[in-house]
Amino acid sequence: MGLDDPEFDIGKLCKVKAPPKIKNFLWKLKLGRFVTKDFLKKRGILSREYLCMCIWCNLGVENVNHIFVGCSFAKNFLGLFCERWKVSWMVNCNVKELIDFYFEVSFTWTRRSLWLIFVASAFWSMWLSRKDKVFKEKPSTIRDILFHTKLRSLVWVIASMDEFTFIFDDWWDHPEGCVAVRKLPIYQNWSPPSTGWLKFNLDGASKEGAAGCRGDLRTKDGIIRALFSGPAPRVGANYAELIAIKIAL
Ligand SMILES: [Zn+2]
Repeated sequence: MGLDDPEFDIGKLCKVKAPPKIKNFLWKLKLGRFVTKDFLKKRGILSREYLCMCIWCNLGVENVNHIFVGCSFAKNFLGLFCERWKVSWMVNCNVKELIDFYFEVSFTWTRRSLWLIFVASAFWSMWLSRKDKVFKEKPSTIRDILFHTKLRSLVWVIASMDEFTFIFDDWWDHPEGCVAVRKLPIYQNWSPPSTGWLKFNLDGASKEGAAGCRGDLRTKDGIIRALFSGPAPRVGANYAELIAIKIAL
């Protein structure tokens, strides 16, 4: 796989504390290998120009560089989340340079791990949002994508960095400040279910006009074996928690 970009260290990508399928997604993003409308047009599947336009801005043909770099919608979103991390935003030419830029931000240790988890979650949330809008005609706003970026990244942080405790509101409002964390097991008070039972840890959240839920399934030692997160109807946190229970069941 590295033959497409021999200068990129795939080891850096493997160290991102995100689920394997997200690492695979990032690698495909780095290579620009996505089935976009431009891809389908070149293969004769989409013939009319208007069918190939970007679902977000409708001002350019949809290809991987437009979706993640050139689109004004993408620029606004990526600029916003860089601002949250106090990272100076730079306009990149293509998606390869964009990935390099995020990996070269000079965070270290825990902060670097948190930053890359957030970045991975941001791109994944953008891609899922784009798919929902194309195939399900679901409305897509920058606020929604930012909400799910935070929620998914929180799930991955909890799953992969058990040795740290995070304050939910800190992660939500000041992710760059979450480097100052207490070294306590996050589930020090967690107790396994009785033999023969499964126990999901579930949560629902509703903030900033968006809602979502998450959950994880752990072994008796508290090691995560399955986790999920996703959108919920904009009704409230309690309803979002009900959706989490439904997904778990
Ligand atoms: Zn666009």
